[in-house]
Amino acid sequence: MTHTIDLRSDTVSRPSAGMRRAMAEAEVGDDVFGDDPTVQLLESQAAALMGKEAALFVPSGTMANLLAVLTHTRPGDEVLLGDQSHIFQYELGGAARIAHVLTRTIANRDDGSLDCNEVARAIRAENLHSPGTTLLCLENTHNRCGGAVLPLEVLDELAAVAHRRGVNVHLDGARIFNAASVLGVPAASIAGGCDTVSFCLSKGLGAPVGSLLCGPAGFIERARRNRKLLGGAMRQVGILAAAGLYALENNVSRLGEDHENAKLLADGLRRAGPFQPNTPETNIVIADISEGRVDDWLAAFAQRGILAVAFGPQRMRLVTHLDVSREDIDEALARIAAAAGAATA
Ligand SMILES: *Cc1c(COP(=O)(O)O)cnc(C)c1O
Repeated sequence: MTHTIDLRSDTVSRPSAGMRRAMAEAEVGDDVFGDDPTVQLLESQAAALMGKEAALFVPSGTMANLLAVLTHTRPGDEVLLGDQSHIFQYELGGAARIAHVLTRTIANRDDGSLDCNEVARAIRAENLHSPGTTLLCLENTHNRCGGAVLPLEVLDELAAVAHRRGVNVHLDGARIFNAASVLGVPAASIAGGCDTVSFCLSKGLGAPVGSLLCGPAGFIERARRNRKLLGGAMRQVGILAAAGLYALENNVSRLGEDHENAKLLADGLRRAGPFQPNTPETNIVIADISEGRVDDWLAAFAQRGILAVAFGPQRMRLVTHLDVSREDIDEALARIAAAAGAATA
């Protein structure tokens, strides 16, 4: 075995030499005083890319989503979101614990979407007895639904259902550029129907840290105060913003390669053993396992230098990213086939 091929997540990618150079050379200032020109440039570029008035640089996607919920709602409000959404599944219930809202889930379909009628039925007006629904959260691409891409019509219709009833819409666009690459439209078109959108620099875009929350100027001003509240206001953070600018400049247009690699990986997995992968639309492969336990398979893979994660008792997830080449996929599949051969021998 030569090198480890790490398919646990696209977050494992490491900053490239060029990105590190950009970080080292970044012009910086105290961003809490509004003095960091690199952060300001990143925020204005992010806002423009998403078609929003303003943007806020934050340490993580989790904080971006929490700030969205905190800033859109008041304590006691009800927030609608998919039962497979990242906000509901993986963010420690921050919406409830910190924003003090009720989170009401709607079943995600396999394609990551929600049923418009179900959303409409769930929306309720505040009265003496019931909390009012004030926010709907959507996700594109959809992580737990295998990186599924929600088409524009679906997103826009869901947003319209919410808006007709006075409910705001936040889009968790952690991987919005993956969706934009597949749909062949600017990210701004995807975010267009939503009031606010967050996206990650630290996933497929290859930056070490950072996400942006984008929306109307007044909203972002209030989110900036809430970021301070959460301890997310940072000082000479242009060093990190420079990595983000480099990522937007260099690593967006190549996302299609990750999608191609994910398709190759899924095709190979299907032939290699008792694995039933999705047909990935983007960079996330989710494979059901029909024989053996997921932990045993992951251990057998790891022994051969292939890293993946469990995504349920009989399910694993493998993610392609900019540190995994086409050759790495071929190599990974050869090692996986060897692991499957050893398991059945
Ligand atoms: C990764 C992810 C997040 C959170 O990002 P972190 O930077 O890890 O906090 C939010 N939403 C989705 C869909 C994600 O995949």
